[in-house]
Amino acid sequence: MDDPDFQVRDDLQFTTPRPRMFGDCADCAAGRCTPPAQRSRRLFTGLLGASAFMPAWAREGVDVGPKSRFAGMISADDIERGGGQQYAQMMQQAAQQRALAPMDHPQLQRLRYIAQRIIPHSYEWNDRARQWKWEVNLLGSPELNAFCMPGGKIAFYYGILEKLKLEDDEVAAIMGHEVSHALREHARERMGKTAVTNGVVELGAALLGLGNLGRGLANVGAQLMTLRFSREDETEADLVGIELSARAGYDPSAAVRLWEKMMAANKGAPPQWLSTHPASGTRIRDIQANLPKVEGLYARASRPDQRFPVAPPLKSRQQPAQ
Ligand SMILES: [Zn+2]
Repeated sequence: MDDPDFQVRDDLQFTTPRPRMFGDCADCAAGRCTPPAQRSRRLFTGLLGASAFMPAWAREGVDVGPKSRFAGMISADDIERGGGQQYAQMMQQAAQQRALAPMDHPQLQRLRYIAQRIIPHSYEWNDRARQWKWEVNLLGSPELNAFCMPGGKIAFYYGILEKLKLEDDEVAAIMGHEVSHALREHARERMGKTAVTNGVVELGAALLGLGNLGRGLANVGAQLMTLRFSREDETEADLVGIELSARAGYDPSAAVRLWEKMMAANKGAPPQWLSTHPASGTRIRDIQANLPKVEGLYARASRPDQRFPVAPPLKSRQQPAQ
């Protein structure tokens, strides 16, 4: 079990800002997580979609409406390039601390296998995803976290695999959720919104892209790490996520089990961590309400030809790697 090239480090350090946590919701963190008006509209659309009078042109799957117009305020190229740089820097720093899983690590192979099954179904949600240079890595950190940066840069923390004893379907639920944030360009939307509320975007600058605001790409990357998504974005990622899982042949109802595990993990967690994780009953009920929309997709999807064991516990280390 002792791999000298890969350790779970309690003291894993990045010079980049501390990443937001998996499932993070800005509204919850700010103590104002009440369902926005849009949610009732979505529920209504959802009910229509599930009704017997579904129009012939309706697509099969979840319905999350159009992308936010705020995403258009900032160039997708800039966001994706910034994300790529930030990601490369983090992975390099993890490697220096021997906390980046090597290519042949079984849990990394597992993540890459699941990603290979999910990625082809992402193109329908965002055409740019066809050109993304997708990457999947595993970080030696005990934290319960995972992310997908704009441009398809995925990372899982060993802690979430190990502590929640995730089955493949649950790993697919997390990956589907995180990939959905990238596909629906929630980071781009958030940054566009922030720019607008700060009044720093003039029409010209908005049309020409973020570079004209005088911010470097490094700054874009730094912002990407810390931004919190809204409750709306979280719901959207949950729903698009279950559809991606279903199409990839993973049981979409695993998302329910995943969030139940997250809720249980929350109980023993520090309050700060709790405040940023909306692993709530509402979230689970929203997912459950949408499962019927993806059941047919799952029933017809080809099943994974490989299943992987849960991540075994690894010894945590504090001392500097030498
Ligand atoms: Zn999320």
